[in-house]
Amino acid sequence: MAELDPKLRAIVAMAASVLPREIGCDDCFDYFAAYAEHLLAGGPLPEPLQMVGEHLERCSCCMEELNLLLAAMKASTLDEAP
Ligand SMILES: [Zn+2]
Repeated sequence: MAELDPKLRAIVAMAASVLPREIGCDDCFDYFAAYAEHLLAGGPLPEPLQMVGEHLERCSCCMEELNLLLAAMKASTLDEAP
């Protein structure tokens, strides 16, 4: 990882301590497939996926990505249906 400006690093550290459960877009992306599967399957979300949901409420760009993924998953599910 590249060296951060010390001021920026302090801001990042502060943000991390204020919002310990906050995840970033990269982390969010890692959980997308699992999150989409849970949405389609229904039922309660496990802890990491709850964080994804919280991120999606604030991040329209990730929400858009998820909707694309959901649409693709739904389409492939329909293809497999008898
Ligand atoms: Zn995001």
